[in-house]
Amino acid sequence: MQTAFSPAQLQDPVLAEANGILRTCVHCGFCTATCPTYVLLGDELDSPRGRISLVKEMLEQDKPANATIAKHLDRCLSCFACMSTCPSGVDYMHLIDTGRAHLERTYQRPMGERALRWLLGTVLSNPARLRAALALAPLANLFSGLLPGRLRGLLALAPKHASNTTTAPGVYSATGVRRMRVALLTGCVQSVVEDNINAATIRLLNRYGVEVVVAKQATCCGALNHHMGRLAPAHAAAAATIRAWCAEADANGLDAIVVNTSGCGTTIKDYGHAFRDDPALAIDAARISGLAKDVSEILAALPLAFVSRRHLRVAYHSACSLQHGQKITAAPLKLLQGAGFEVLQPAESHLCCGSAGTYNILQPEIAGKLRDRKVGNLEGLRPQVICAGNVGCLVQIRSGSAVPVMHTVELLDWATGGPAPRGLA
Ligand code: SF4
Ligand code: SF4
Repeated sequence: MQTAFSPAQLQDPVLAEANGILRTCVHCGFCTATCPTYVLLGDELDSPRGRISLVKEMLEQDKPANATIAKHLDRCLSCFACMSTCPSGVDYMHLIDTGRAHLERTYQRPMGERALRWLLGTVLSNPARLRAALALAPLANLFSGLLPGRLRGLLALAPKHASNTTTAPGVYSATGVRRMRVALLTGCVQSVVEDNINAATIRLLNRYGVEVVVAKQATCCGALNHHMGRLAPAHAAAAATIRAWCAEADANGLDAIVVNTSGCGTTIKDYGHAFRDDPALAIDAARISGLAKDVSEILAALPLAFVSRRHLRVAYHSACSLQHGQKITAAPLKLLQGAGFEVLQPAESHLCCGSAGTYNILQPEIAGKLRDRKVGNLEGLRPQVICAGNVGCLVQIRSGSAVPVMHTVELLDWATGGPAPRGLA
């Protein structure tokens, strides 16, 4: 694609990067076939190619965003199916980030929209605030008829109560000889609503000789705010987490940083890029990105011994952040098959379930259609269990299915001697 940035514009490293990305796009449109919003809506402006043109126009002409541009960029799930499909290797992820940052700088959203985004970014990314909000949810439910549609949707998605366990910061020692020492991100939302996933991860890793440390200040990776284009709070959360892990690595050594929420994993693996121009954090951020691993990558390297074969029909949902964001597809399947599960993969496995960070709250209509399509494909396999490696997908799919939905590590923990996951007990 031809671009027309001026030499002065190209002095700006952000625009220079966008220019390079735009020039790799040959406008072929292959990406449209796998873009969930184009598949649903059929509008070119809701396709990757259309959004690339919108971002190009804004950046080249230094034009402020408007309501139309905001509508089509906001509808992007950041699922990155387009990147898996694109034959030219267009780096859509970093282009849409630049487009969203420009949008937030130059466009004033309606007040209700700004308030909702602030609320989501402020509450969901802070475990203490999220716990307090969940405690108030039953009260809010009494008045749900009076709430605007999207807040009603948020209440419907919210779990009835917080997890009854909390993974405290500290060191969780390996059983037997220590093979590795890793840090675990317990996650802002996950630590409150699905801490059972963290407990299962720690048990499983400890069982195979991995010492796990949960660093006190490493609570949120910044992904939730990043998805909404709220870069200042996203970078503040990421910076605190980077510092906490670097301090731990310097003091006691770390072989890896384990992430069991693939949405967070994609963001953490990109810290090196996000902080590349920050003189204070560039080196540390790149170091953390280099250490970050999805939990399935670590487990694939361990000699797991399955104590009992579990003959369950398991439908595996491959989270977009895992398959498109991190290009991890085979490891979770092999692990589940190794444990004796009958692993089934749904049709349209490349399509997003509609969770996508806060997307299911901000774009409930599209998210609902994607969820129903995903649940239809999963339930069509007649599974006894549905599993995935990302808490957002679990919450989203569970809201539309009566089949037990759980994290991959919960099944692997069970198959190696841990307790039966919630929903199977
Ligand atoms: S497939 Fe790649 S090169 Fe083709 S239009 Fe989409 S982003 Fe551009
Ligand atoms: S990230 Fe997903 S929703 Fe956005 S343009 Fe690409 S395929 Fe479409």
